[in-house]
Amino acid sequence: MFKVGDLALLIDRKDRKYLIKLKENGKFSSHLGEIEHNDILGKEEGILIESKLGGKYLALKPLLRDYIVKMPRGAQVIYPKDVANIIIWGDVFPGAKVIEAGTGSGALTLYLLRAVGLDGLVISYEQREDFLQKAMKNIKNYFEEPKNLILKCKDIYLGIEEDDIDRIILDLPEPWKVIPHTLNSLKDGGVIISLLPTVPQITKFVEELNNTKRFYPIDVFETMMRYWNVKQQSVRPEHFMVSHTAFIVIARKINKDISFFESSLEHWKTEY
Ligand code: SAH
Repeated sequence: MFKVGDLALLIDRKDRKYLIKLKENGKFSSHLGEIEHNDILGKEEGILIESKLGGKYLALKPLLRDYIVKMPRGAQVIYPKDVANIIIWGDVFPGAKVIEAGTGSGALTLYLLRAVGLDGLVISYEQREDFLQKAMKNIKNYFEEPKNLILKCKDIYLGIEEDDIDRIILDLPEPWKVIPHTLNSLKDGGVIISLLPTVPQITKFVEELNNTKRFYPIDVFETMMRYWNVKQQSVRPEHFMVSHTAFIVIARKINKDISFFESSLEHWKTEY
């Protein structure tokens, strides 16, 4: 049931979405007239609410991806299709100790907090104080007081202060500058993940990973997600899609020199 402090997503007949935080005696104004928050409070999600001028809205609790597209942004936020791959291919698990940089608007941070759960920990580095403040607001608006989060106003290129880390996730322009710091902070067997929009960045990052001889295997891929239109006889792909967002590089840190494995690299890849 909806209660005071909950977020509610209101969807009109034209599929326009509005996100509100429910307050006692609060009001939501739209071109279809006001809606009283009290009409939503105490009701089950999935109900239809009518505004003063007879406009109908479907009221749901927002999914995390609904919330992220509506929250205020500073930097470009990560796309859900990329988050999905980071969480699964990067194997971010409940209880994991994860380092993230940079925090940006906190979109990826929100997903990581949920993936690691209350037994895990997300330590997020952001060099800009103003972005950090904005991210904190976005995060608290969704999770209130997250006990599994540490936000740090720090340049991660200068070092990582924590050790015994399970996963390191980098969404910043020069991730190769972080590689030397991962050697002491990331556990052997741990995973490093980097999101990179351009090819020269991949080349540089992979080359630097290889130079350490401490990462294997190193996988690089991208995800294209195409929506389909399904209406009676018209069943076809949508005309437009978000094709390029970023490439994902994922590698595991190992204890010793990788030379032993190099010849079997192709074999490893064909297993998936
Ligand atoms: N993944 C974020 C978006 C990150 S955008 C999200 O989903 O919202 C990249 C962020 O990295 C920017 O906020 C930028 O200020 C930060 N950044 C860039 N270089 C950095 C560094 N050396 N240390 C910490 N943060 C950095």
